[in-house]
Amino acid sequence: MSFPDFTFSLLHQDGAARRGALTTPHGVVQTPAFMPVGTRGAVKAVTHRDLEDLGAEIILGNTYHLYLKPGDDLIARAGGLHAFIGWTRPILTDSGGYQIFSLAERRRITDEGAEFRSHLDGSRHLLTPERAADIQAQLGSDIAMVLDECIATPADRESARVAMERSVRWAARARRRFLELRDEPGSVPSVRATNPGQAQFGIIQGATHHGLRTESVQATREIDFEGYAIGGLSVGEPPEVMYDVVAHTAAQLPDRQARYLMGSGMPDDLIECVARGIDLFDCVLPTRNARNGQLLTRAGPMAIRNARYAEDPLPPDPECGCVTCRRFSRAYLRHLYMVGEMTAATLMTLHNLYFYLDTMWRIREAIMFSTFETLRLEFRRTFSRRPQH
Ligand SMILES: [Zn+2]
Repeated sequence: MSFPDFTFSLLHQDGAARRGALTTPHGVVQTPAFMPVGTRGAVKAVTHRDLEDLGAEIILGNTYHLYLKPGDDLIARAGGLHAFIGWTRPILTDSGGYQIFSLAERRRITDEGAEFRSHLDGSRHLLTPERAADIQAQLGSDIAMVLDECIATPADRESARVAMERSVRWAARARRRFLELRDEPGSVPSVRATNPGQAQFGIIQGATHHGLRTESVQATREIDFEGYAIGGLSVGEPPEVMYDVVAHTAAQLPDRQARYLMGSGMPDDLIECVARGIDLFDCVLPTRNARNGQLLTRAGPMAIRNARYAEDPLPPDPECGCVTCRRFSRAYLRHLYMVGEMTAATLMTLHNLYFYLDTMWRIREAIMFSTFETLRLEFRRTFSRRPQH
């Protein structure tokens, strides 16, 4: 289903690759799109103005972090996350589930929800599907995600089934709450919804088991969301296994709704998953790796601390048009990184995000001109995951 503030238009298709436009209450996102991760209301090491200059049309906020600090009540009183952080373009928030599984302490999952202790101060919390919907309503993101159960991989079929079925039950509860908040404003007195046009995406689970993925798609589609995400991938499985699951799952999702692959990935993952019908991506890789001194280039990853760059006058990637590559040498970036200057993180983040967003721009162009396969083959020929020398 769709409602006036939120639509997805499919503009062109080249094989399974889709060129689309996602209209949200805070503007249009051209897809396929990459969402930089703004964990706690900021994309680490860069400003919103940098993101706008880079052409980022949507960012992701982490519900778990924002809920713990400064708290969704405070953000709602400020008018919602857009107003609080001063970002006027679209925002997607996750449900908090993934961070509970990866960060929180002493978590316990029951049918009711996820009980956990904060990694910050040990305080005790219970995140239910309803509560995750409430928090995101207060944050007022343009796209909210349902709470799902993430499991460690490789997962045997039985534990993957239990988690998938629980995720479906949670999705139904999250949807009920979302519709209640949207259609009967004020019906939950403790919740101040700050974005009446918010959309909600369901999440397909089932680990690497195709049969479970199919069941999850059927049950989640039946609940009926504005869009669908594929969760539980990029958690250590080989790329080919992930690509197979993505192809299998995406093919069963509705054509006229957006498809979001959560938490992926390497630059080649983006191209390979666009080739299998994905429209939206997010990943901490370009920003996190930049802070750890790893630049991602058309040829592959580059570790700037390598002594061979100490007097290298070339830009990180001679073919790149970003502000860092247009102005600075590998030798200078290495120096900044080695002495611990904050600017090192900023300049390398600017390059990595430019590389990701420029890759998405080239993907969108190629789909429009039906030359996506050429781009994909060129990328396969030139990009290697092995560190460059
Ligand atoms: Zn660059």
